[in-house]
Amino acid sequence: MGRKRERVDPSTELCVAVTEEGALVVETREQGLRRARALLRKYIPEGVNLSDELIAERRAEARMKGYTGEACPECGNFTMVRNGTCLKCDTCGSTSGCS
Ligand SMILES: [Zn+2]
Repeated sequence: MGRKRERVDPSTELCVAVTEEGALVVETREQGLRRARALLRKYIPEGVNLSDELIAERRAEARMKGYTGEACPECGNFTMVRNGTCLKCDTCGSTSGCS
């Protein structure tokens, strides 16, 4: 994630892709995957499983255990509890909804 590898191996397969902005770019497979992940990350918090069904299932399970059913934006666990006006994660202790 924090790694930086700009050197491209000559044997690396190159792909042509269109960016969000509509620009045409030539990139390695790795770069393309990284860009796709970054794009997804905008809509889905890190650590959250991408399967909708699984999310719904985990949410229902969390509610049965007394949690709100929200996913933690920090660790992705469905262990958010009411903490005054905001939510607090029972797993990692991070809060959401309050400043
Ligand atoms: Zn958490």
